[in-house]
Amino acid sequence: MAQYNAKIAPFINIEFVVTSEWWEQPRNHKGLDIATYSSAGTNVPVYSMCNGEIVVNSYDDGGFGNYIIMKDSTSKMGFLYAHLRDRSNLAVGSKITVGQQVGIEGTTGHSTGIHLHVEMQDLTNHDWQYQAEKSVYSNPADFLGIPNVAGITVIYEGTPRRGWRYPHSSTC
Ligand SMILES: [Zn+2]
Repeated sequence: MAQYNAKIAPFINIEFVVTSEWWEQPRNHKGLDIATYSSAGTNVPVYSMCNGEIVVNSYDDGGFGNYIIMKDSTSKMGFLYAHLRDRSNLAVGSKITVGQQVGIEGTTGHSTGIHLHVEMQDLTNHDWQYQAEKSVYSNPADFLGIPNVAGITVIYEGTPRRGWRYPHSSTC
């Protein structure tokens, strides 16, 4: 049994663990790290938490690995998902909705194991700022509705949106 029920999350109907809290010290960890440790191994879908569009789809060799940034069309909140297994096939400008698969949990870039690194920034007044100071970021744990504490187990019992899949994925 998971300790917490999230109100929204990048993983749906699968238990995950907070492996590093947001703004963990001393590294000023800019994201929230979550991992499913799933028997599904390297094939766990990650889902959008916003209704908006893809604004960045890129690869960062030394850091994020395969990553995307999504922007909510109403709140203008930005969501960065890093270390994805593959390059997302959603082009910049693609419309996305909550519960839509946008990638697969992975460990590309600077990562020591399969997990998802989630960052959030309010993009109302600027584009995404890399390596910014703390005030530029929002706390993803708050958005998920869970404590910002490493080691807790969480589940989000949502509904994936159907109709999109990776070409080489067995997930739906
Ligand atoms: Zn991280």
